[in-house]
Amino acid sequence: MDAGAAWKKRTLNERNVKMKEFPAGTVSESPAARWWRSEEGGARCGLCFRRCLVPVGSVGYCGVRGWEGNAFSSPYLGRFSSCAVDPIEKKPLSHWRPGSRIFSLGSVGCSMRCPFCQNHRIAQPFGNESLGGKQNVPLVPMPPSELARNVRRKGLSAVAYTYNEPTLQAEYILRAAPLLREAGIASVLVTNGMFSTEARDDLTPWIDAVNVDVKTFDPLKYAAMGGSLEVVRENVVYWTRAGVHVELTNLVVPDISDSREDFVRMVDWIAETAPKTPLHISRYFPSYKYTAPPTSVALLKEFEAIAGRKLAHVHLGNV
Ligand code: SF4
Repeated sequence: MDAGAAWKKRTLNERNVKMKEFPAGTVSESPAARWWRSEEGGARCGLCFRRCLVPVGSVGYCGVRGWEGNAFSSPYLGRFSSCAVDPIEKKPLSHWRPGSRIFSLGSVGCSMRCPFCQNHRIAQPFGNESLGGKQNVPLVPMPPSELARNVRRKGLSAVAYTYNEPTLQAEYILRAAPLLREAGIASVLVTNGMFSTEARDDLTPWIDAVNVDVKTFDPLKYAAMGGSLEVVRENVVYWTRAGVHVELTNLVVPDISDSREDFVRMVDWIAETAPKTPLHISRYFPSYKYTAPPTSVALLKEFEAIAGRKLAHVHLGNV
């Protein structure tokens, strides 16, 4: 189910929640101060690896982070487009609390622009060519204490920031995670892994598990989608060494990530870095701007066999 459908299926009564505790854009006392600074020409954002220089009155590459009056923040903090209870395997996480369900939240925006985005309605709501344009996705505020209450009411013990890129909710996650942990609720990220080092360092102590989407092992193709192979590799290694439960997803997309040579190099890197890290090999279907036919199941099974020779846990998804 895509995020929009998940939102329609929501059973919570969030629409009437008032945004008293966490009004958008008022985060000056948070570590967010470390994630941007004034520079000649605007604000230098340090939330993700791109480090955009954003002119006054404008927004960055993600279309989300920008000027809010005299502060640099996001009007979407603590406001969500999607809310659902999912099986943990859908994140996908197969080796962390298997068989459990997880409270899942998504907002809008992304720090990358993949042409095949499966959640483009919320991840790219601004249009690639019109950053700063108005987006029409309905958003519902959910203050952190309300989130904790909702999760407890559902009898759940974990929250996933998913559907769109969670980096863009960093201040909210830092506010919510201590309340959640106090209530015995874990925090999970489903991320493209493009965090800056400082944002990653600030959030990591509060994160219990991550699924990182490794888009391709071709650095030029990564860059063409607005990401960095080097950064995702660094952050995966960091989270693994920090004791966060890490699983990886590789969506096999024709002409982007279906090269056998690149796939072998990715498997070799995982095997050298952390061979017990589960790898989810996922089947692509046409979406957003990408119309190539779905990945062949035969290729996915070949990739599964290649990975299975060196890695302990390999899973096929979307087949
Ligand atoms: S979060 Fe990333 S893409 Fe968005 S403004 Fe900051 S540096 Fe740029």
